[in-house]
Amino acid sequence: MLSHQPLGLYVHMPWCVRKCPYCDFNSHALKGDLPAQEYLEALVLDLEQDLPLAWGRPVGSVYFGGGTPSLFSADHIDTLLSRFRGLLHISPDAEITLEANPGTIERDSFSGYRQAGITRVSLGAQSFDDDSLRRIGRIHASDEIRQAVESLHSAGMSNFNIDLMYGLPGQTVAKAVSDVERGLACGPAHVSHYNLTLEPNTVFAADPPPLPDEEHCWEMQEACGALLAEAGFENYEISAWARPGRTCRHNLNYWRFGDYLGIGAGAHGKLSLPGEDRILRIAKQRHPRRYLAAREDGSWRADTRELDAAERLFEFFLNRLRLAEPVPKAAFSAATGLPAESLAPYVETAVKRGLLEDRGDSLVQTDFGRRFNNDLQEVFLP
Ligand code: SF4
Repeated sequence: MLSHQPLGLYVHMPWCVRKCPYCDFNSHALKGDLPAQEYLEALVLDLEQDLPLAWGRPVGSVYFGGGTPSLFSADHIDTLLSRFRGLLHISPDAEITLEANPGTIERDSFSGYRQAGITRVSLGAQSFDDDSLRRIGRIHASDEIRQAVESLHSAGMSNFNIDLMYGLPGQTVAKAVSDVERGLACGPAHVSHYNLTLEPNTVFAADPPPLPDEEHCWEMQEACGALLAEAGFENYEISAWARPGRTCRHNLNYWRFGDYLGIGAGAHGKLSLPGEDRILRIAKQRHPRRYLAAREDGSWRADTRELDAAERLFEFFLNRLRLAEPVPKAAFSAATGLPAESLAPYVETAVKRGLLEDRGDSLVQTDFGRRFNNDLQEVFLP
């Protein structure tokens, strides 16, 4: 039976200093001044419209993502969090993450963010090699990463993530390893380690740079993974590594098919309504200009969709199989409202192909299933 899942709040801040050539996120180069006050007002109105879908439910995590949320000052974040607290029951121990990009952070600003209520920072370092950073169009150099990390430590914010990418233009395995070594030397609690991919509708897709081949990327992943494991990090999700007790609660909730409100330009929300046996996906107006215009008429939502049984099943596994942890069948039923028996034909196929192990009450990925995660996810396609 469908039951309420833990609830998070995602807040999208869509502007960046400039658009990186590989980026397919809903991010827009800032032209002129940041329309901070207007955007803050819009976020609060947008949240108010979504509230009836989540009345009275505690919020366990808040995530300011982007774009570059650190273009907004600590005062802006403080104002927003106070307004959110007036509308929602944000748990006293909620994880509250801010994505920050080196090159956009003023000295001492992390202590301001911390005072505003931010408990976790995700730092978009990507690489420590200045040549690589230049080739992927980042606005910062390694020196700015160092300054941001110093500022995090002096603000006493030990719970921070470092984003690193591998498979960068002209990158060797040794350079990828050196990035992870330098990342670890910053003392993060969490490392997100992604392979650069060419996404449609990006500058790199139209005019691809010379990238390392698949075999070299695999070597990078293996060598960097070994280093992270040796340093005590656990690979709890395909690209996410955490020290014990430092997994990202907000992202874990996505991957466990939990619920979340999504506010801001292009934000997505997912909400279970057990009383009506419905699961909704809501997408907000994507372009910041269109989103800001919704202050006039409340048209924040661009799309609201109800998931049918096949979509519930597929989306549950699409997310859940990113995680290394076992999948309890009871969690499947609670999150999708579908009986565990409906899994039988899919599980049988995945087990036969050596991708999954059926342990009765739970399902566990085999090593083969982890390596060929896309093949495993495809088994659950409607
Ligand atoms: S800073 Fe991040 S969100 Fe902004 S354009 Fe670059 S990759 Fe995209």
